[in-house]
Order: sequence, then C-alpha cells, then structure tokens
Amino acid sequence: MDRVSILGVEVDNVSLKEAVNKVGELVAAGSPSLIVTANPEIIWLARNDNSFAQCLEAAQMVTADGIGIIIAAKILGKPLKQRVTGIDLTTAIFTETEKKPYKFYFLGGKPGIAQKASEKISARFPGVQVVGIHHGYFDDDTMILNDIREKKPDILLAALGMGRQEKWIREKAMAAGVPVSIGVGGSFDVFSGEVKRAPVWMQKTGLEWLHRLINQPSRFTRMLQLPKFLMAVIMSRLTGKQT
Ligand code: UDP
Repeated sequence: MDRVSILGVEVDNVSLKEAVNKVGELVAAGSPSLIVTANPEIIWLARNDNSFAQCLEAAQMVTADGIGIIIAAKILGKPLKQRVTGIDLTTAIFTETEKKPYKFYFLGGKPGIAQKASEKISARFPGVQVVGIHHGYFDDDTMILNDIREKKPDILLAALGMGRQEKWIREKAMAAGVPVSIGVGGSFDVFSGEVKRAPVWMQKTGLEWLHRLINQPSRFTRMLQLPKFLMAVIMSRLTGKQT
C-alpha cells in the first residue's frame, strides 16, 4: 500500500473502499491485526510515547482520520486520497455484512452505550452480528478476554480512548487471536445517539473538529496540539527530518 510518513508515522493512502477491502483481506487471513484511524492528536501522542509509537508501527493499516492529517500530507507534497474516519470505516464495514456476515465484539464506552449502539446498528444493518459487548470502564480485563476468546469475533471495535485502545488491542486482543481490531474512539457515543456527529456539510468542508469543540469544550486543550502538529509538519518538510 502507498504510504506517507507524517512525523515518523506511516499513514496509508487508502480510499474508504480500499480500507474496507483491506479489512476483508485481514479477516480472511485470520492472523491478528490492528487498524488505527489516526488524527493529529494520535500522531502527536506517538511523538511523546514510545510504546504508542511502536503500536502504530505494528499496525496493519493506519488511515487518515481528521482534516489535520489531510492538510499535513498536502504540506509534505504527498496528498492522500480521502479521510477515512473510524465512523466512516465501521459504517462501511457494517454495510458489507450483507455479503460478508462478520461477527463483531463491541468493547468500550460508558456502561450501556455499546449496547445501545449495537441495537441501533443491528436495526440499520441487519447483517451485523454483535456476539459480545462490554463497557470500557474496567480494571481487570480477564473476564473480558475470556469472553472474547469464547465468542471468537472476526472484528473487535475498541472504544477506550486514543492510545489506551491501541495499546490494549496490541497487548491483549491480538494475543487473544482476534483477526481484526480497530480503535474507534468515541464512535459508540455517536452510533448510540448520545453524541451527535457534525452535519455532512461540516464533515465535507473539514470543519468536523469545530463541531466537536463546540459540543465538547473539554477537548479545547487537546485541540491546541493541532497548530503545534502543523508547525512540526512544516518544519519536517523544510528540514527533511521526520520527527
Ligand atoms: N472510554 C472508555 N473507558 C475509559 C475512558 C474512555 O470506554 O476508561 C470511552 C469513552 O466513554 C468514549 C471513548 O472512550 O466513548 C473516547 O472517546 P473520545 O471521543 O475521547 O475518543 P478519542 O478522541 O480519545 O479517541
């Protein structure tokens, strides 16, 4: 796959369709894999957290989630085909279940949220089989891992917050033999209807972050990383250094 290196993180230049096809290939192959939907905050975290950076290196696919990544790739002179967010990717995979009856495990979110998301998703996409669900507020994951091993999902969606979810997938879900695990951040909050996604015009014009900021002002500090991220990308283009 064609990739662009953004501050040392390799991001795949894939369309949504290609990303969904890749998921199909990974499920068919059966060996445990990790998919990351990367936004600037994720790349910034990888700069400061070596074990997280290793997670991104080990990922079988890293997609561009967020307009900041699209802008960064343009600055680097290697434009990406499109944004592939966690919600868009999972929705496209759910659509595929008409042809491919994947089994899903939903892990994460506040108690009750993944359940509500599962009900809404199953009503909208009848082919989706959710074989197991657990919320994301746990200390001991032994029972969850036993449940995952028993239910044998094809695809695990992990919504534990960026960083933690990817590390958990790499250390735990892959060891439990799940073919495809995807870190999906706040997606269950959106699928359950608890949080509203930005209107399509905002998604298309690259303003989804503004909608999130207005609705979740607590994200402000996190979003301050975006200008720093873009400056670092510009510097990396000017100096030719990756980090
Ligand atoms: N979450 C969780 N367990 C935790 C912390 C967070 O399950 O210990 C969930 C939280 O309920 C939310 C998601 O993780 O559904 C993180 O959402 P956010 O929009 O912050 O995603 P991020 O940008 O961190 O990927």
